[in-house]
Amino acid sequence: MLSVAGLRKRYGEVVALDGFELEVAPGEIVGLVGHNGAGKTTFARAVAALLRVDAGTVRVAGRPITPRRRRPGELGLAPQELALFPTTALENLRYAGRLYGLGRHTLAERIAETAEALGLTELLPRPVEDLSGGQQRRLHAAAAMLHRPRVLLLDEPTVGADPVTRELLLHAVRDLADRGTAVVYTTHYLPELEVLDATLAVADHGRVIARGSRAELLAALPGRVTLSFADGAGLVFPPDLSGHAGGLHGDDVVITAIDPAAAAARLLAANPEHAARLRSIALDAPSLDDLYRELLTRNGA
Ligand code: ATP
Repeated sequence: MLSVAGLRKRYGEVVALDGFELEVAPGEIVGLVGHNGAGKTTFARAVAALLRVDAGTVRVAGRPITPRRRRPGELGLAPQELALFPTTALENLRYAGRLYGLGRHTLAERIAETAEALGLTELLPRPVEDLSGGQQRRLHAAAAMLHRPRVLLLDEPTVGADPVTRELLLHAVRDLADRGTAVVYTTHYLPELEVLDATLAVADHGRVIARGSRAELLAALPGRVTLSFADGAGLVFPPDLSGHAGGLHGDDVVITAIDPAAAAARLLAANPEHAARLRSIALDAPSLDDLYRELLTRNGA
């Protein structure tokens, strides 16, 4: 549905996009992750035809998008910075809907539906300046999703959002994808991508350096398990868990391994008398930080 090839953009000496490529299928949610300055926002602005790129193409459903050939109805963009008019929530949604070419009847229907999905119904008559930050964030996303675009770009939509706002937003995004929208969701939080069941694209220095399912990209990364014992004295480490993979810190054991649960089981099996003194066990899956570190090492950065 979204097909981006060879995007390049320079700002003077700064190369913001350096051959950025991304394909997103209908109904797919791609979690676009990467360090600050990796080019994620520039990419979103280029796809929305809000800036002129130096090279490359953006296609939605096979048709090229350029600043001259924008198709607002096909695209929804919620940038990082809130962009709302100083009027009521309802007027903001009406304005967005008209901009996207929705007719009166459909507009009223979609506003009711989207407001309901994002918990905004009661807030529609209120002036935007009276809404809390989280409520404004939901309204901002609603304005981008109202017309059920073919491609939806959300740039860190949950920054500063409370858990309720976060959940509403994630569900609304998943629902839209289930109707066939291709979504690019920029975030720094891996757990959100799990809720969305998103695939991953990792950006670095203006290009995508890794693309695939979460399982594919995270499978090779080690996770961590921490076992806390009432008394850890005398624990013995099986040979494969000794060295840097495992160690005793006070009465806690921290093991880093590809399969941390299996490693914990091996440690307990080797120490049956300590198993009765186990107070807690905590598994930490690999984080996005672990993924960046691994990819940057692999790419020689
Ligand atoms: P963040 O996670 O902080 O939002 P990002 O991945 O979205 O970062 P971009 O905002 O796309 O990164 O920026 C990519 C690079 O381009 C950065 O080095 C940034 O300083 C530069 N850049 C972006 N917009 C401009 C601009 N209008 N003028 C000059 N440089 C810019």
